[in-house]
Amino acid sequence: MPYDVIVVGGSYAGLSAAMQLARARRRLLIVDAGLPRNRFAHAAHGFLGQDGKPPREIIGEAARQLSAYPTVEWAHGEAVDARKDDGGFTVALAGGREARAARLVLATGLRDELPPIPGMRERWGATVLHCPYCHGYEVGDRPLGVIAGNPHSPEQAALIPDWGPTTYFTQGVFEPDAEQAAHLAARGVHVERTPVVELLGAAPELEAVRLADGRIVPVAAVFTAPRTYMASPLAEALGCAFDEGMTGPFIRVDGRKQTTVEGVFAAGDAASQMHNATLASAAGVMAGAGAHHSLTR
Ligand SMILES: Cc1cc2nc3c(=O)[nH]c(=O)nc-3n(C[C@H](O)[C@H](O)[C@H](O)COP(=O)(O)OP(=O)(O)OC[C@H]3O[C@@H](n4cnc5c(N)ncnc54)[C@H](O)[C@@H]3O)c2cc1C
Repeated sequence: MPYDVIVVGGSYAGLSAAMQLARARRRLLIVDAGLPRNRFAHAAHGFLGQDGKPPREIIGEAARQLSAYPTVEWAHGEAVDARKDDGGFTVALAGGREARAARLVLATGLRDELPPIPGMRERWGATVLHCPYCHGYEVGDRPLGVIAGNPHSPEQAALIPDWGPTTYFTQGVFEPDAEQAAHLAARGVHVERTPVVELLGAAPELEAVRLADGRIVPVAAVFTAPRTYMASPLAEALGCAFDEGMTGPFIRVDGRKQTTVEGVFAAGDAASQMHNATLASAAGVMAGAGAHHSLTR
């Protein structure tokens, strides 16, 4: 078998898995298409020791450190298929090459589908945000909004007043239940039921939102919960089971990050309900160690 492990996805989760395997002196191939989920933000926050650095700088430094290990190989580009065969796995790469390994780690992340409101896409990661812990501090002390995207949106809105005065836009769909309404009221959140139809201002800045009845509500940033999808179909192709999270499906894993397909491990946003670079990195460490343990058996 040419490789012990193929890691698909070379970002927070994948490189963390790869680091454990490289340090265990295992032969590995890291396949990466170079599109981390937070590439739309000019800086990543809350990652210990890396606060405020551009995402590609953090990942680039990790890749440089990994490249010093002699058992690490890279394939820059997409893995387009994966299948289980005699005692291992074959991964097909774009361009026609096939690579074989005894174990797989999938760290392929998620793809976001934003609500179809004009002005959202060009502000994504700057003033249209998904996570207050990641970017709330930078937009604090100004009027903020939460544009509902799922039934949990009122809970997200109840967090936001710690960063600034908050309006919760139900979009006429995600009306808070009685408990959520009481929580929002206690937190001083204003509830607006007329849908937001457009974001206004010189993007990526945001000045206000326009409502369907023509009213303009000033906001400096809005939080939303995009629907999420697997960034890659490999887990599905391999027959891994999925669970449904708050924003979309994620790969089912056990405590050692093994999926329901023996020998296939998964980590990061693709295999979690909670989406954060540190959590993805920690899960990657576990997946790398889990894959290594299984190789020793
Ligand atoms: C706008 C935005 C801002 C964010 N800001 C922060 C922040 O400030 N702090 C924070 O902690 N979190 C932040 N997050 C969350 C953070 O981006 C994710 O939690 C984190 O990127 C997940 O890491 P990951 O390794 O699981 O996946 P990703 O970082 O998404 O990496 C997946 C990698 O796999 C590659 N890949 C996918 N499919 C294939 C394939 N078939 N073949 C080869 N390669 C493939 C991709 O190209 C990519 O390089 C933000 C998210 C968004 C959307």
